[in-house]
Amino acid sequence: MTAVATPLSWHERAQQLSLQGQAFINGQYVPAQSGATFSNHSPIDGRLLNEVAACDAADIDLAVKAARTAFEDGCWAKLPPMKRKRIMFKFAELIEQHTEELALLETLDMGKPIRDSSSIDVPASVRCLRWYAEAIDKVYDEVAPTPHNVIATITREPLGVCGLVVPWNFPLLMAMWKIAPALATGNSIVLKPAEQSSLTAIRLGALAAEAGIPDGVFNVVPGFGEQAGKALGLHMDVDGVFFTGSTAVGKLFMQYAGQSNLKKLGLECGGKTGHIILADCQRLDVAAQAAGFGIFFNQGEMCTAGSRLIVDAAVKDEVLERLKVFSTLMQPGDPLDPNTRLGAMVNPEHTRQVMNYIDLGKQEAELFMGGTQRQAVAGGCYIEPTVFHQVPYQARIAQEEIFGPVLSVITVNGVDEAIKVANSTIYGLGAGVWSDNVNTLFKATKGLRAGVVYANCYDADDITVPFGGYKQSGIGRDKSLHALEKYTELKTTWLQLAL
Ligand code: NAD
Repeated sequence: MTAVATPLSWHERAQQLSLQGQAFINGQYVPAQSGATFSNHSPIDGRLLNEVAACDAADIDLAVKAARTAFEDGCWAKLPPMKRKRIMFKFAELIEQHTEELALLETLDMGKPIRDSSSIDVPASVRCLRWYAEAIDKVYDEVAPTPHNVIATITREPLGVCGLVVPWNFPLLMAMWKIAPALATGNSIVLKPAEQSSLTAIRLGALAAEAGIPDGVFNVVPGFGEQAGKALGLHMDVDGVFFTGSTAVGKLFMQYAGQSNLKKLGLECGGKTGHIILADCQRLDVAAQAAGFGIFFNQGEMCTAGSRLIVDAAVKDEVLERLKVFSTLMQPGDPLDPNTRLGAMVNPEHTRQVMNYIDLGKQEAELFMGGTQRQAVAGGCYIEPTVFHQVPYQARIAQEEIFGPVLSVITVNGVDEAIKVANSTIYGLGAGVWSDNVNTLFKATKGLRAGVVYANCYDADDITVPFGGYKQSGIGRDKSLHALEKYTELKTTWLQLAL
């Protein structure tokens, strides 16, 4: 009888990975021209993963030149839509075939649980790429209702060279929300991953080439924000920069555009979601669980993290008790263990910043649970689910984006006060509300100043709907057909007929 091989654990599979750390420019892996690298450590246990190219302005310039040459050549931009679609499908298929490897790279690099990277991040990226590939030959341009002897067409054309600058919390997925519509509309791209999480972006370079994306169309330039990111923002031959990250750095990209060539900008920035539970919500257990998941999923490193729970005084105690029970499921653990639901924080520096907010919270409010670091794996970065209550809505922990598993519970009386408190930050990305009264629910969804509003649910998601923020949460939208607008110029062409 032949022995059945036991499946390798994620730890064993991680040992077998070979890690690429070079830039991908004009169809090949290359070191930074300066030769500089930085050491990439895993937040799981602090182990050294690899050396990553520390690219700077010279490498960005090389990538932009390759992207421009490919764009002018028309090898991608002028490819018949059917052919571009076929190549993007192939790219999606290759990513899907490498799900395990990409999920492992993501988890090792930034610490999220392998159960999430393998079941959410990679599959959602594949779906996003396929969705935009399908759109390529289904979106039509327009003809204006002009007088009979004139034709005016309104067409969309690719911008040209697009810089894509992305954060570390969903490295592959945030990149794909930009890569897919940018490629679908015929642009060449230069992708700058966050320095904390370069590995999946770098790996995509080889998969893009294998799929048949022509050299120069898809470039990946890793490096630090103040070097590689800034150089992309200031480059005179980049037509648009599409950024996801903090509001502070989003504002810098507006300055870079103003100081250089007024390049087009898309900004997906920070958030401080107000998640409201009203007294007439009948399903408090569901609402409390959604509130817990909304803040603790992805270690709270979410732009739409429901970081402010705005709860009616009449149900506050009940909600807090249920939240405590749910939190027992979300205790920090080894991200490579498939049962872990709360992984490692991205790095020691960010862990310290979140702990500083927890210290501040102890002065501004009452600690209800959590509040300490854990050694879930020796040498790693882990923080317990933490809840503060009796938080004044103007407190810093209720106004500033903490980007960790830290919830501020603010007590209110009634829907009007809840809406006022929810709208009381500089952000406007996500908002949520629970009520069993349809009029109250509508009043709240209309009154909440946010790009994405969840009513009797939280963190619903699909590629078919736009995602982005009001106020200082950004400019423009990712996802859905609306995203195509960002990556294209609108051209009006007048044709006078001799009729
Ligand atoms: P960040 O702003 O520090 O970095 C984002 C990117 O900008 C990285 O690639 C970084 O290298 C680069 N960068 C940093 N400093 C730069 C500079 N001076 N010049 C040019 N580029 C620079 O953000 P982060 O810490 O990576 O990610 C967390 C932030 O991202 C949070 O604020 C979160 O809310 C936001 N986010 C928003 C969305 C959304 O869709 N709205 C989604 C995910 C994350």
